[in-house]
Amino acid sequence: MGQPAYREKQIFKWICRGAQSPDEMSDLPLSLRNALKENAGFESLKILSFQQSSDGTRKYLLGLDDGNCVEAVFMRYDYGNSLCISTQVGCAMGCRFCASTIGGKARDLKAWEMLDEYIAICRDTGESINHLVLMGIGEPFDNYAELSHFLKDIHDPEGIGLSYRNITVSTCGIVPKIEAFGDDFPQVNLAISLHASSQEEREALMPVARAYDMERLLRACRAHGEKTGRRVTFEYTLIEGKNDSLESARALAKLLKGMLCHVNLIPLNPVAETGLKASARERAEAFRSYLEDHGVPATIRRRLGADIDAACGQLRKNSSTEVER
Ligand code: SF4
Repeated sequence: MGQPAYREKQIFKWICRGAQSPDEMSDLPLSLRNALKENAGFESLKILSFQQSSDGTRKYLLGLDDGNCVEAVFMRYDYGNSLCISTQVGCAMGCRFCASTIGGKARDLKAWEMLDEYIAICRDTGESINHLVLMGIGEPFDNYAELSHFLKDIHDPEGIGLSYRNITVSTCGIVPKIEAFGDDFPQVNLAISLHASSQEEREALMPVARAYDMERLLRACRAHGEKTGRRVTFEYTLIEGKNDSLESARALAKLLKGMLCHVNLIPLNPVAETGLKASARERAEAFRSYLEDHGVPATIRRRLGADIDAACGQLRKNSSTEVER
């Protein structure tokens, strides 16, 4: 449009502040605002519906401009507000316990759509969000180029300026991308959806384990910790009778011993279609104690949003009719 380069920064700042039209961009000349209205798309995600839990957790169903929808979850913790966002519409990874993969993957999200999940929810809550997790619908490393673009954008001090250290990216274990991620974003936290203590157990729950086996995955995680100096988080969903025995705890402790890591034990949010159940509290506690007693730091994740469709992909799946706010 023949504009000086600094105009791009001005527009980027406005978008990050939540502007929804060039009319709000008061430091741009009127002629440029009009030209933007004529020539640039200013789509933003629409909040189709949300559920509010008694603990303050809010789960949003966000409409995209092609009619698809994704989810994002706003959570309150002692250390501040946290947001979990989606990176794809649906997911191709096929994890057995997950509602997001029922129906497969429709498409990848663009970087601007991920950024807009954050902006739309800041605008809706009127609160600042200082922690971000990419653990919603989709496998972030299956959309690596847009993910990278998004991380740079949300970190850009000219816009939102979110610290890389306050961002966590979760993967089901795509090893080549774990290696690239350590080089490209050494300050961003890495979480691995592990959910099993052996190759056999993992294959039964997560098809990705056939492409990248446990040994290779854990080798990449060790190397990542050594390269970045940051501990890797292992997400481990406790599923009754599948991966929650003391045998599993013993095998897991053996696999992770000596690694710079932390295990986050997650009581399963049941999804009706899977027929899987959450482990009882005592069993979860016994599992955690075993890991801790054997030198592997572990916590049981506080269960937020238990009274709403809080499991990843549940709200989208259950929204046969979308409600305009
Ligand atoms: S757990 Fe993550 S990677 Fe696995 S199917 Fe669900 S969204 Fe995809």
